[in-house]
Amino acid sequence: MRFKRMTAIAAVAVVAFGTASCAKKDEPAAPTSKFAAGTTMDRIAKAGKFNVGTKWDQPLFGLKGLAKAPEGFDVEIVKIIAAELGIKDDKVHYEETVSKVREDFISSGRVDMIVATYTINDARKEKISFAGPYYEAGQDILVAKDDTTITGPEIFKTDATKKVCSVTGSTPAKKIAEYATAPGQVVLFDVYTKCLDALKNKQVAAVTTDNVILMGYVSKEPDKFKVLGKPFTKEPYGIGVKKDDKVFRDWINDIIEKAFADGRYKAAWDKTVGAIAPMPKEIKVNRY
Ligand code: GLU
Repeated sequence: MRFKRMTAIAAVAVVAFGTASCAKKDEPAAPTSKFAAGTTMDRIAKAGKFNVGTKWDQPLFGLKGLAKAPEGFDVEIVKIIAAELGIKDDKVHYEETVSKVREDFISSGRVDMIVATYTINDARKEKISFAGPYYEAGQDILVAKDDTTITGPEIFKTDATKKVCSVTGSTPAKKIAEYATAPGQVVLFDVYTKCLDALKNKQVAAVTTDNVILMGYVSKEPDKFKVLGKPFTKEPYGIGVKKDDKVFRDWINDIIEKAFADGRYKAAWDKTVGAIAPMPKEIKVNRY
């Protein structure tokens, strides 16, 4: 009996050891790199650790539960890029990058890249560079489910008593300021979930940012909120990297194109934003 049990334990140990050694064979032992010396890819591959910025409170793009890595479409894009670097998911170190810190976190080297519903624009391109776009959203407005008074951004011009909330350092905050007429009419926080609280407390009448972000919030609380469904800007989402790191940027662009062609993009989409929005029919990355 005792002998039999020992044999069984030994057998399990052999199987477990066998599996572990097989898994090891498929991966290059760290720290090695297939990339040209001096490139960002080479540095990250050799470090065996990838520092990435995402959002943490945006359902379907970057949402972090308790003690877990964030989840969402942006996170899936990160995982695709990490795999190409030979970095395992558990070696990706996620930092929360709220809208206003993004350029600084990249320039200072605190993160290697940012995938965080990050609109490509010229002002940001003065400080950093972007791969992508990998998606195009549009700014929209979220209101209380029973609100019929807000039909578009023009309302903030005609009714200065209506307050609207957005996030500091975001493109929607800038855009909505063009419609506001009264001081204090645009209320700004660091993250969108604080805007939702302000809407629930009736401190503001609306929240504005990209449609797919707002739709993510509606998907969580459909009895409380609705989105107007009338996007009024174009928000092409890019992957932020250090300014003028053309090699890293173009390498990421190649991955985005490949992933779109081979089904990895679709798998990422279906698992996340697919619940609320159709997948883009094509993507056109910028090579500059
Ligand atoms: N895409 C917009 C931006 O990059 C809004 C979403 C966000 O704040 O991340 O500013």
